[in-house]
Amino acid sequence: MAPEPFPTNWTRCLVLVAHPDDPEYGMSAAVARWTAEGRSVAYVLASSGEAGIEGMPPEVAGPVREEEQRRSSAIVGVDRVEFLGFPDSRIVNDAELRDAVADSIRRHRPDVVVSLFSGDEFAPGQPNQSDHMEFGEAVGAAYDDLVAAVGVDAAEGRPQMWFESSPEMTHYVDVSGFVELAVDALAEHSEYLSVLDPATPVRDQARAQVEQVCAPRDGLSDGNPVVGFRRMRP
Ligand SMILES: [Zn+2]
Repeated sequence: MAPEPFPTNWTRCLVLVAHPDDPEYGMSAAVARWTAEGRSVAYVLASSGEAGIEGMPPEVAGPVREEEQRRSSAIVGVDRVEFLGFPDSRIVNDAELRDAVADSIRRHRPDVVVSLFSGDEFAPGQPNQSDHMEFGEAVGAAYDDLVAAVGVDAAEGRPQMWFESSPEMTHYVDVSGFVELAVDALAEHSEYLSVLDPATPVRDQARAQVEQVCAPRDGLSDGNPVVGFRRMRP
């Protein structure tokens, strides 16, 4: 079935991801559009990404990456950013993580939960990271537990929909006019990106990544740039 436009019958979104920069590697152009439309978006990150900067001790890298995430989030209109303190690169779908995710959902009372792709491979030969897969499983379990316990009612803090940012899209957001903001947002992760690929200027890395994720798809949205999501529940 052809992907459909992302639903618009909501006002509050909670983005749940494993690491700093996860929102910027896919969905931040859509987030920029949503906040420009007056919707509220909050980010909750399982870890502070403290293991992610080679050669930098975790106790230094964690605060650096949190600060980069806050600046990046502000660019796309997100001022509520929380870090749950789970260990970067050792995220496991256990009861503690599921409880923390469920607690975040209850506190933020979103209509829509959006998390990062948790499938095995982004593309053939491009495996996903264990942290992303474990975290996605935990989000699904927390979502199901909430719905099983109390039904679906955003007013009571229970989301009506769960999507993943995904290469296997069922829904898309037309991000015309928001791609540059997404490039700006990813480029805020400058310390991280400059160590990841010292040979390529940070802004060039950010542009290449964002333009790949937001690439127009045949037959969708008049050839405009889009961000893809997969509806996971209900
Ligand atoms: Zn990540």
